[in-house]
Amino acid sequence: MIKILTNAECYLPEGNFIRADVLVVGSKICAIGTFSNDWISKFPVSVETIDCENFFVAPGLIDPHLHLSGGSGEGGGFFSQSPQVLVSECVFGGVTTVVGTLGVDTTTKTMPDLLAKVKAYNEIGLKAYCYVGGYDIPPKTITGSVRDDLIFIPEIIGVGELAIADGRAPEPDLKDLARVSIDAYVGGMLTGKAGVTHFHVGDGAVRLKSVRELMSHHVIDPSKMYMTHVERSEALVDEGIELAKKGCFIDFDIHERDLHRWYKYYRENGGPLTQLTVSSDAGVSSPKEVWEEIRKCVLEHDIPLGNLLSHFTLNTAKALKFSSKGKLCIGCDADLIIFSKNDLELNHVLAHGKWMLKDQKLQLTRQPHLERRKFDIYEVHQTSN
Ligand SMILES: [Zn+2]
Repeated sequence: MIKILTNAECYLPEGNFIRADVLVVGSKICAIGTFSNDWISKFPVSVETIDCENFFVAPGLIDPHLHLSGGSGEGGGFFSQSPQVLVSECVFGGVTTVVGTLGVDTTTKTMPDLLAKVKAYNEIGLKAYCYVGGYDIPPKTITGSVRDDLIFIPEIIGVGELAIADGRAPEPDLKDLARVSIDAYVGGMLTGKAGVTHFHVGDGAVRLKSVRELMSHHVIDPSKMYMTHVERSEALVDEGIELAKKGCFIDFDIHERDLHRWYKYYRENGGPLTQLTVSSDAGVSSPKEVWEEIRKCVLEHDIPLGNLLSHFTLNTAKALKFSSKGKLCIGCDADLIIFSKNDLELNHVLAHGKWMLKDQKLQLTRQPHLERRKFDIYEVHQTSN
């Protein structure tokens, strides 16, 4: 139950790296410092020591937007629905916390199914949450009410992804939108959860108009407005930057695999760095690509790793009020990724103090009993990538 990562280059919330040892007890980070062999040898229980010389250690990544039940089929029929996202894909992407969402299809992709997937993730060892709803207003809920869902269902942390500027949903009536957003806000306030309204922003010319009008006509906390797919155009990013300056959170997905372009554009145009997060939008794409995208940004596009990681960790934890996640600090959850300094290859993943990936091999143990059917729904038996 006790693990010590020694000689690691640790990523701190300030964005810099320091050389240190990390003590993990159970599911928590209990100490960060320099521990002597003599001190380690005095533990009255067995200690697993992992030499992290030549490795970086950073908080596990948080993916704030992915379609755990699979994506809506928009390729001309039911056959084109994408299958559920696998736990193994998250692990190989360095992702230890996920937030599931429904999309355009809230008929065959349902909240009970999404919630069941979330619960399965939690049972297997990653941390999972979800938004309630989908593109439509009124949102499809579990209990019949957004507010009640937030209050009574621990895994539900906000409403979404509500579609704006998109041909697949009508632009929401302002009063309806306010009702839903405030229900999520109050549900979050009463339970200590984020209570965000998570917007899917389409490619319509109205862009973020509905969010601006919502905030000007109603009393809305800007930090509860969280918009994704904002990297569709420079005009949309410009509007996102204006709202981010007011305290809203905006998210870029990596579906097009061009994060470097939009990240540079955001920075160069004065986007507040604390308000930007990055998601996989997995469904068609995979959360495994999150780590590939980080490597690409750093190794091919010279974006400093220290700058980049906060958009996958600290900022996301702040947007979604995950107070014990997204940072390598004493008392935080032991969600850690350990990767090579040389080529940023992911070597180990720890979630809540348990190995999910060790020496690039999956360590998952829980699985459904499918001996008579030859497939592995959570890919728990896969041993390499
Ligand atoms: Zn979307």
